[in-house]
Amino acid sequence: MGKIITKEGFSYGFDPSACSKCDGRCCRGESGYIFVNSEEIKKIAEFLQLDVETFKKDYLNKVKYRYSIKELKIGGEYECLFFDGKTNSCEIYEVRPTQCRSFPFWDYFKDKVDEVKKECIGIV
Ligand code: SF4
Ligand code: SF4
Repeated sequence: MGKIITKEGFSYGFDPSACSKCDGRCCRGESGYIFVNSEEIKKIAEFLQLDVETFKKDYLNKVKYRYSIKELKIGGEYECLFFDGKTNSCEIYEVRPTQCRSFPFWDYFKDKVDEVKKECIGIV
């Protein structure tokens, strides 16, 4: 077991060394929103050397007033467009959105420890 990360207000911890044994469950599985804010949109577009409008059109879905990264349906599962299933890694790791950086410490999971445990093998 590696160094455990904890966060105030959360009853569980996270062992990041688990990611090397996992096939990227937080980037694939059930369909879900992967929200990006305007600052993140700019950063990712720059990283991909695309202009913001092209990036939005090709990679994002509008969800009311927000944007979410598109998903691909592979087999019976959905995965983020930036997930590389060959290496189980994120193609935009350096500029991935806050939602991805802050996983598994999402407010949503605060009172749903069983749910986050099912999704992530790094929960301790
Ligand atoms: S689900 Fe958990 S263990 Fe798996 S890659 Fe994501 S953070 Fe790492
Ligand atoms: S942006 Fe990267 S870390 Fe976030 S869901 Fe997509 S592949 Fe996973």
